[in-house]
Amino acid sequence: MYDVLIIGGGLAGLINAIVLSKAGKKIVLIERKTYPFHRVCGEYISNETLPFLASLDINPTEWGASSINHLQVSAPNGTLLSMPLDMGGFGISRYTLDYNLYLKALQSQVTIITGTSVEDVIFSSDTFSVTLSDHTSYTARFVIGAYGKRAKLDKQLNRSYIHKRSPYVGVKYHIQTDFPANYIALHNFKDGYCGLSAVEGDKYNLCYLTTRENVKKSGSIEEMERSIVQKNPFLCQIFSNSKFLFEKPEVINEISFAPKTAVENHILMSGDTAGMITPLCGNGMAMAIHSAKLLSGLLLIADEQKWPREKLEATYTQQWNKLFAKRVWIGRNLQKLFGNERLTAMSVHFLKTLPPLARFLVSQTHGNVF
Ligand SMILES: Cc1cc2nc3c(=O)[nH]c(=O)nc-3n(C[C@H](O)[C@H](O)[C@H](O)COP(=O)(O)OP(=O)(O)OC[C@H]3O[C@@H](n4cnc5c(N)ncnc54)[C@H](O)[C@@H]3O)c2cc1C
Repeated sequence: MYDVLIIGGGLAGLINAIVLSKAGKKIVLIERKTYPFHRVCGEYISNETLPFLASLDINPTEWGASSINHLQVSAPNGTLLSMPLDMGGFGISRYTLDYNLYLKALQSQVTIITGTSVEDVIFSSDTFSVTLSDHTSYTARFVIGAYGKRAKLDKQLNRSYIHKRSPYVGVKYHIQTDFPANYIALHNFKDGYCGLSAVEGDKYNLCYLTTRENVKKSGSIEEMERSIVQKNPFLCQIFSNSKFLFEKPEVINEISFAPKTAVENHILMSGDTAGMITPLCGNGMAMAIHSAKLLSGLLLIADEQKWPREKLEATYTQQWNKLFAKRVWIGRNLQKLFGNERLTAMSVHFLKTLPPLARFLVSQTHGNVF
């Protein structure tokens, strides 16, 4: 019997595991893939996470993270807005970050099972029984769902958003290119936007979000990049003059930003599984880390003070909403401004004339230091 079983070993799962295990709890974490591995992500993390990471003895600079303090935004026609990033952030690949967190979790005595996925979760008599794809089973007092944006398990739980297809596709490359390492760029194109920022080892992350329809109309990703993405002169310059380091891009689809719930069938959801913010706000990783800090902290208080399960679930839901619901809503609505070529050009042009407004909007997409 484990104290907590965690489904998924991304940022939310690994941080929950590290905090709970350091506090003496018996933790098992199940991850479908085998570390280290690449994931689709812009790999820019807001500095709001640094004090909490430091409290866990985690310093991303030691793993090669680059410091980022300047933002460029371009419209599809090439109109460019350039401004300092007040909070700022750092760039590090998920390959390196997640792998180092995995090693840290192992050091903290977390039992980690990789290369197999959770298939079934049953809650009965105040205990969870969890079955994996290799047919092994585990029991635990609590289960944390940290399995990312969408998984087969959501169907089993009959979560409302799973019945709707999501129109978004994400594509990621690592490249070598000529770009200041302290800048992050967000270049827009018709029905999508593409980020560029440094990660460790003289490499840059080039990652974009677009619609399935955009890919379908073009016939393939390569053709869409040629005929639509590269219409933005900055993206044309990047695609023409960079060395692409992957044989083929990392691609994901079915990215849903629909509202979710923080608790389902007594499973406590963390990170994207509780709610996903649009990458336009560049902050899903900070939210995943923050939601793990919140959940693991509450689990420890609940255990110490012998809270009934209902009290833990209600408190977590209420605090999750208080911290993140507004940010997720802003992200969803800000995203509507982008994609439309004329509207994006007008917005970028307008924000260029009003730097304080531009800085205020960017500050709204970052959270507070935690
Ligand atoms: C195109 C794009 C660009 C982005 N850019 C940025 C950015 O620049 N900055 C930023 O802060 N955020 C960005 N994000 C968001 C960020 O990637 C996510 O918010 C973050 O990864 C969430 O972490 P997580 O731990 O919740 O989920 P994940 O990192 O997705 O981890 C979930 C894990 O669960 C595992 N899993 C799934 N199902 C099962 C199962 N049944 N059993 C066991 N394991 C399972 C998966 O293999 C995965 O490893 C971006 C997202 C997209 C789509």
